[in-house]
Amino acid sequence: MAKDRLASVLERWEAVIGLEIHTELTTLNTKMFCGCPVAFGGEPNTRVCPVCLGMPGALPVPNQAAIEATVLAGLATNCEIAEWSQFHRKNYFYPDMPKNYQISQYDLPFCVDGFVEIDIEPEGAPQRPDRDGAYTTHIGITRIHLEEDTGKMIHVGGSEGRISGATHSLVDFNRAGTGLIELVSEPDIRTPEEARRFAQKLRLIWLTLGISDCNMEEGSMRVDANVSVRPRGESEFGTKAEVKNMNSFKALHDALAYEIVRQAEELESGGRVVQETRHWDAGAKRTSSLRSKEEAHDYRYFPEPDMVPFEFTAEWIESVRATLSELPDEKKKRLIATYGIPVHDATVLTGEDLDMAEFFEAAVTISGPERAKAVSNVMLNDLSMHLNAAGIGVAESKVVPSMVAELVALVDEGTISSKQAKEVFAEMAETGDAPGAIVELRGMKQVSDTGAIEEIVDRVLVANPGQVEQYRGGKTGIIGYFVGQVMREMGGQANPKVVNEVLARKLAE
Ligand SMILES: [Zn+2]
Repeated sequence: MAKDRLASVLERWEAVIGLEIHTELTTLNTKMFCGCPVAFGGEPNTRVCPVCLGMPGALPVPNQAAIEATVLAGLATNCEIAEWSQFHRKNYFYPDMPKNYQISQYDLPFCVDGFVEIDIEPEGAPQRPDRDGAYTTHIGITRIHLEEDTGKMIHVGGSEGRISGATHSLVDFNRAGTGLIELVSEPDIRTPEEARRFAQKLRLIWLTLGISDCNMEEGSMRVDANVSVRPRGESEFGTKAEVKNMNSFKALHDALAYEIVRQAEELESGGRVVQETRHWDAGAKRTSSLRSKEEAHDYRYFPEPDMVPFEFTAEWIESVRATLSELPDEKKKRLIATYGIPVHDATVLTGEDLDMAEFFEAAVTISGPERAKAVSNVMLNDLSMHLNAAGIGVAESKVVPSMVAELVALVDEGTISSKQAKEVFAEMAETGDAPGAIVELRGMKQVSDTGAIEEIVDRVLVANPGQVEQYRGGKTGIIGYFVGQVMREMGGQANPKVVNEVLARKLAE
């Protein structure tokens, strides 16, 4: 998908996107309505019992931890918590669901009417790391409800995992009955990038709450999108398509970008958008029609007769609220207030990987708060580039907080230049050696000895009488030229601060 094609379409068309995000409560010990363990993998059909296999007469017992996790999710996303709610049966037939109905929530979900704020720069704004502000967009949340997950079908005999061409299908009920929260957003999202940031933010919140591992590749966090387009300035919604099968944030972004362009071009060529479910094919980089959705399914919802409704007291809701961990937005504000780092730095440190903020605070504890900005610079530049290149999270890196603190101190104390620091960083990321040891081993210490620098400065000034004259004639900007000459003479190992001081003094003589 050419990026400029999307940008050009978005000049004429506005995309309207709403997300439905299912998250498995993978960190709970047991499933939603029985005592079976929750765990990824395992021999098929070994984590099952009469309840999650839908045996006649087996009765569900709701998992209190799952209800608390859902309420926590609602409180963390500014939702109102219902004082009165209940489970419904959602009736449909599918082979991976042995009861032929799913216990879900219908008109009385646990959480409604929330919102999440995302930081996003407008199109055309400078890309980080130069960006020093943040832009906030408000995305409404319609509801968060709790339900049970289905089992898993495995289609065999054809091409791996695909229904088409398969000769038979196997079913594994290990996942059946696992607690699953479904979040439905308002159609407040306007670009693929906003959708990606929103989903990333939710993942970060769920991880902070510890309610799921949010692994998109393994399907414990699954994002579906409703997307339509309308001419700019129009307030009526266009016909929407539902896009499924996006198992990474990149896939979410790419699928939406493709779908927006597809719909706009369809309408511009006189065609129409069909209400349907479409499947994202990450290999072919396109969506294709899965099934028509002209008519809404009739799930024949009715209240689950095997469970009484729930009444949450205000005291109980407050007791759950008291267990909330520090959320990413609060953490961001605290980092700015405590360490005086710019909004942009705090946004990056708290906005992508939970371990980044923890790493930062550990490094600053060692380096001292006066070096917080320097620590942040190393993390946002060298460390981020290293993590991206290696495709790992900060927790998997050989770089630990004490190493960044030591590196920053070496530069701050003038032992090495900031240019040398980049080389030291690359080596410590590769080997896991401490920066001090690397500097020692490679003889990288920069020369801060004024006498040695004065000798070279004198030589450079004698060799460039014309430039000296220009400087003394008022063209003081030329000092950079002398610094460059001195640095070259000294193999880049001179302390630039000392070089500047000596040059300024000698040139003033
Ligand atoms: Zn069970």
